[in-house]
Amino acid sequence: MQGTAQASTRLMRMEDAVAFSDAHCHLDLFDDAEKVIYDSRMRGVGIIITAGSNASSNVRMLELAKEGVYGVVGISPDFSGSNYEQIAELMDLVKMNKNIIGIGEIGLDETILEAVGMERQVDAFTKQIAVAKELGFPVVVHARKAIGKVMEILEKEEVERAVFHFFEGDEEMAKRAERRGYIISMPPGESGRRKRVIKSIELSSIVAETDSPAVGKTPADVVDVVNYIATIKGLSLDETAERITKTIKEYFYI
Ligand SMILES: [Zn+2]
Repeated sequence: MQGTAQASTRLMRMEDAVAFSDAHCHLDLFDDAEKVIYDSRMRGVGIIITAGSNASSNVRMLELAKEGVYGVVGISPDFSGSNYEQIAELMDLVKMNKNIIGIGEIGLDETILEAVGMERQVDAFTKQIAVAKELGFPVVVHARKAIGKVMEILEKEEVERAVFHFFEGDEEMAKRAERRGYIISMPPGESGRRKRVIKSIELSSIVAETDSPAVGKTPADVVDVVNYIATIKGLSLDETAERITKTIKEYFYI
């Protein structure tokens, strides 16, 4: 018992000293998630938000979400055909762990229409927005080649808090999101478009993510994304990291 208590005190102290936050990854897809969490923390990542996308990964989120690790649960567009019935279970899942803090990733994906039609995707998305509203939770949206449609639905449903995971819109879309009070989550990688997006909105509307292991290798790679944002904004790495962590804490009520 004593050993356990000491270990957790040490972890808490480390967290106090770190500033980076990964707004979106998939810890369930790592072979050894606990090691990934520990290593990322050692490299300064104090907050990790891990996203579910189907019935089984949502259950994994319940196990993974604890001290510095927060989960969002949802049925993503590609599972909104096969796992449609599980939308009804989200409300109960959320209540099982206080570190489940949002509904996601949910949204629309124009690249998978052959597998799941748009009508079904819209239906699943809208139903889950209703769940988030009832809980007072933000939604984490996946919008692949469908950002205009996703935005229209968020506006029509009067969603107050939405994080655009892996934002792939242009600066006009970023500004439209910002006016609504939504958050733009920037993934790893640099491009002219990403640079324009970062320039066009306030730092307080931006967070950084790795989408690891799919894009970044681990949540620790978020340091590079924050560094890119800092360079474009002309701010120090520390300042930028702190502001992003503040945004995440405020937006998700952490
Ligand atoms: Zn993702």
